[in-house]
Amino acid sequence: SGMVVAIDGPSGSGKSSVSRGVAARLGLRYLDTGAQYRAMTYWMLQNKVDVGDPAAVAADAGTPVIVSGTDPAAPAIGVDGEDVAVQIREADVTGAVSAVAAVPEVRARLIALQREIIGGGGIVVEGRDIASVVAPAAGAKIFLTASQEARAARRNTENGGGAGGVAATREALTRRDSVDSRTNALAAAPGAVVVDATELTLEQVIEQVAGIVIH
Ligand code: C5P
Repeated sequence: SGMVVAIDGPSGSGKSSVSRGVAARLGLRYLDTGAQYRAMTYWMLQNKVDVGDPAAVAADAGTPVIVSGTDPAAPAIGVDGEDVAVQIREADVTGAVSAVAAVPEVRARLIALQREIIGGGGIVVEGRDIASVVAPAAGAKIFLTASQEARAARRNTENGGGAGGVAATREALTRRDSVDSRTNALAAAPGAVVVDATELTLEQVIEQVAGIVIH
């Protein structure tokens, strides 16, 4: 058995890159819980489930078979045997995921799956509710944040500087923050160390977080 590192924070804080980097540096596994909510959402859209209808989403929450890889060097996510790593980052999924993630049946299913994967530990887990709900006994709890400008700029770069630029990205981010904050508090859990990435490079954040984990 090994340690569990919980890394929570809002969209665009750089959680995924930081979590993967910390896992690689410390020789731990890696779990991206956001990718699981995205995979569930992708399945709902593919199967024409009305994602605006919580009862319809709840009725199908148990159906998709979601499989997460835990190698930080090669994050993998599959639904019903299909590799969906690319599809889950598309705008239609990003636009619908907060509504799907707000459905209690979806959360119950994915939280159970996450606890199964966490198992005996030795893993960095990133999400929104890891320190507060999924793994409250985690040995290290980090809340990673950044200014809204920095988060929008990062997301826009990740999206390839796409349509509408930073302003549109920032608007979409604000909308998602607002729905997400009703599902999970977008604030540090008790006992979590807050790391503000606004003025730091990725390497510096990884360094800081790895330091917190080790001490
Ligand atoms: O982290 P990422 O942006 O990929 O997460 C996508 C969405 O999944 C979030 O906006 C949130 O609605 C949901 N989510 C969640 N709980 C988690 C991880 C993600 O509700 N632990």
